[in-house]
Amino acid sequence: MLLVFYGKGKGKTTAAYGTAIRALGRGWRVVVASFMKSGDSGEIELLRKLELPVKVYVLGTREFVKPGDYEGEAASENMAKAYAFLRYELPKLMRNYKPKLVVFDELGLAVHLALVDEGTATRVLKRFTGDRELHAIVTGRYVPNTLKNMADLISEVREVKHYFRRGYINVVGLDR
Ligand code: ATP
Ligand code: MG
Repeated sequence: MLLVFYGKGKGKTTAAYGTAIRALGRGWRVVVASFMKSGDSGEIELLRKLELPVKVYVLGTREFVKPGDYEGEAASENMAKAYAFLRYELPKLMRNYKPKLVVFDELGLAVHLALVDEGTATRVLKRFTGDRELHAIVTGRYVPNTLKNMADLISEVREVKHYFRRGYINVVGLDR
């Protein structure tokens, strides 16, 4: 199944990692790829410490990619890492490691920002749709319609209230 969590509210990435934990609890092999983040977040720290069948790939850059700024170093580094993962690393993992769940965190946003080519993303995600044995989760504030159209499940996370509006930004333990 292909699951998509999108929208402007908080909870997409944490829902994806929560599902990864649920899957690990059932003994599944899991792959987690984080497309926009540098890896400075509690969930990545935790998964790296666990002696469980989970492989973590951090494909983001320390510097945030500014939308539209594709000439910056952050954008090209992000593009190169994402491409190498989708094109070379993932096919190898699918053949040899055989995960039952792959989390593509922020892939929706990466495609939205054109850091990842839409055709590449669609080709990669196609094999997960409608499959009972192999599942993927895609998150992102924005997820292009082509990816949404392929999904077996879509949840929109809507902001009703958020403490960042009162200045609490990137709170450790809650947001990262
Ligand atoms: P989480 O990782 O907590 O599940 P998310 O994946 O749904 O959240 P993203 O859209 O990836 O959220 O945003 C990353 C983080 O930025 C979130 O933790 C969120 O609380 C925070 N955030 C969202 N909107 C803003 C904003 N406008 N300014 C500052 N921080 C924000
Ligand atoms: Mg997120």
